[in-house]
Amino acid sequence: MSDAFPALRSIIGHEKQVRLLARALSSGRVGGAYVFAGVPGLGKKTVAAAFAAALNCEAGGKDACGSCGSCRRVADGNQPDIVFVRPDGATLRIAQIRELQRQISLRPHEGRYKVFVVTDAEKMRPEAANALLKTLEEPPGAGVLVLTTSSVDALLPTIRSRSQELRFLPLTIESAVEGLTKRGVDAQRAKTLALRARGRIGMALSTIGEEAAADDDVPAPIADSSPVAAFRLADEWQRDPARLDDLLSWYHDLLLVTIDEGAALEHAEHARTLRFLAKRETYASLRAKMRAVMDTSHRLRRNISAPLALESLALQLAQTPLTSPWGRASLL
Ligand SMILES: [Zn+2]
Repeated sequence: MSDAFPALRSIIGHEKQVRLLARALSSGRVGGAYVFAGVPGLGKKTVAAAFAAALNCEAGGKDACGSCGSCRRVADGNQPDIVFVRPDGATLRIAQIRELQRQISLRPHEGRYKVFVVTDAEKMRPEAANALLKTLEEPPGAGVLVLTTSSVDALLPTIRSRSQELRFLPLTIESAVEGLTKRGVDAQRAKTLALRARGRIGMALSTIGEEAAADDDVPAPIADSSPVAAFRLADEWQRDPARLDDLLSWYHDLLLVTIDEGAALEHAEHARTLRFLAKRETYASLRAKMRAVMDTSHRLRRNISAPLALESLALQLAQTPLTSPWGRASLL
C-alpha cells in the first residue's frame, strides 16, 4: 500500500480526531454529517479522504484495508461513492449543492455509504448553505457529509448544530518532525519544514510534493523566499533591471489565484505551483509587494542608488506573512 493511499493509520498527528472516527467506524454509529474545522494546511481533507475510504472498505473495520475492491478504486481515484465537492473559483455554487443533494439521495453504487466531502465549506453563499441544510434536516440513510472549513464561524449555526464538529489544530513541532521523518524526510530537513509550516502537517507534506515537482522557471523570490536568495537576487536585478517587470507578472498571477483559484493565469503552466505558493501570502501582502516592485523600478529609472534599493526590495519580497518563522519585525 503506497503512502498516497488515504488510510486513518497513516495520518500524522490528529490522534484524538482519528480515534473518534475509528470508534464511529467500528461501532457502526456513523453520523450523517461532520464538520472538520481548523486553519488551512492541517490535513483536514486528507483525514476526510481516509474516513471516506474506511466507510466504504469491504472489510468493514475501523480503517480502510487498502486492498479490497473499494480500496483499489479509491487508490485509482474512481470510487463512485466518494465525491469531493470543491469551490468553483471563490464560491461553492448552489448548482453544486443541488447536484450533491440529487446524488446523495440515490443508493450507493456499490459501497455502503455515499460520502460527500465538501471542502472550504465557508465558501457557500447563503442560498447554497440553505440548500445543504435541507439535506441535513432529512438525511438519507446511507449518506455521509463531511464539510471541511478554515472558518467554522462562517457556517450557518443550524448546519453546525446538525453536524459533529471536529476541531483540528497544528501539531507540535516535535510530532510534526517525527511524522515527517517516518515518511523518510531526513531529520534536519523535517525540522525546517515543520518550523516553516508551523506544525501544519498538511502544508509541510505538500511542500515535499511540490519540491519534488519544482520547476526552475518560477523566479525567486516567488519560489524561494529565503533572505539569502534575496541578496543574490539584488545582484541579478542590478545587472538586468528588466527582470523586475517580469516579476510583476508572477505576482499578478499569485494575486489572481488568491482571489479565484480557477483564474486564467499568464503562467498557466505553473498554475499548480502558484496555487501552492499563494498560500504563504495574503491579498494585502501581495499588493504591497507589487507596489514595492513598481516603486523600486521607478526609483531605479531616476538613478537612485541601485544596490541599496534592490537589497531592501529583495528583503521585503522575501517576507511571507503566513509562513515566516522569524516574524516580520526581525528582518526590518
Ligand atoms: Zn478495503
